[in-house]
Amino acid sequence: MIKENLSIVKKNIDEAVKRGGRTKEEVNLIAVSKTKPIEMLKEAYDLGIRDFGENKVQEIMDKYDKLPSDIRWHMIGHLQTNKVKYIADKVYLIHSVDSLKLAGEISRQAVKVGRVIPILIEVNVAGEESKFGIRPDECESLIREIAGLPGITIRGLMTIAPYVDDPEENRAYFAQLKQLSVDITNKNIDNTSMSVLSMGMTGDYTVAIEEGAYYVRVGTGLFGERDYSHAVNG
Ligand SMILES: *Cc1c(COP(=O)(O)O)cnc(C)c1O
Repeated sequence: MIKENLSIVKKNIDEAVKRGGRTKEEVNLIAVSKTKPIEMLKEAYDLGIRDFGENKVQEIMDKYDKLPSDIRWHMIGHLQTNKVKYIADKVYLIHSVDSLKLAGEISRQAVKVGRVIPILIEVNVAGEESKFGIRPDECESLIREIAGLPGITIRGLMTIAPYVDDPEENRAYFAQLKQLSVDITNKNIDNTSMSVLSMGMTGDYTVAIEEGAYYVRVGTGLFGERDYSHAVNG
């Protein structure tokens, strides 16, 4: 099943790349494997997937030791400050930084394990009450505060768009995130690049690609619907 799904997703990505006048190298797929068992991740791995997205610290810890070490683990969910220490040596990119407090703790833990952790700033472009992330107008000042921290490097922005039936409804939000990244690039802030835009999920990744996504985060479209009945917290 994953094999068929993956070829559909890849075909959709290729077509969106063409429509958007992008190049294939600029667009990367993260397989969002949250709630899914190790066997399914292994299957995806054997099909060539190396980027996996998880939204719980506990799940990254459980899966990390059971899978090959060349996997790039992406933390895409809300991250509690007191849990950063568990993944500081494991995570490839943290997509969900939305406060100085969290960034400060990532910085401390990164220094402790002797690495520089790349991060994205999560922006709530659509202004949904239920979502984490900062307002677009807070982005520059937060970046200026974070950029000086040791052990951390800002690589770009992430957003979670609203759940919609028609992906076209999210086009403006993706375009807005892209524009924000251009505006911030023009400020030339130290230790900050805006080369990565993480946007687009199963329902809207093709539109996100057309509007400039670097990473699309696809779960359901690869692994099928999620079952939360056995979910663990944290
Ligand atoms: C679950 C999740 C996804 C994947 O969602 P699908 O609709 O299943 O593709 C992407 N991004 C984040 C932040 C998520 O939590």
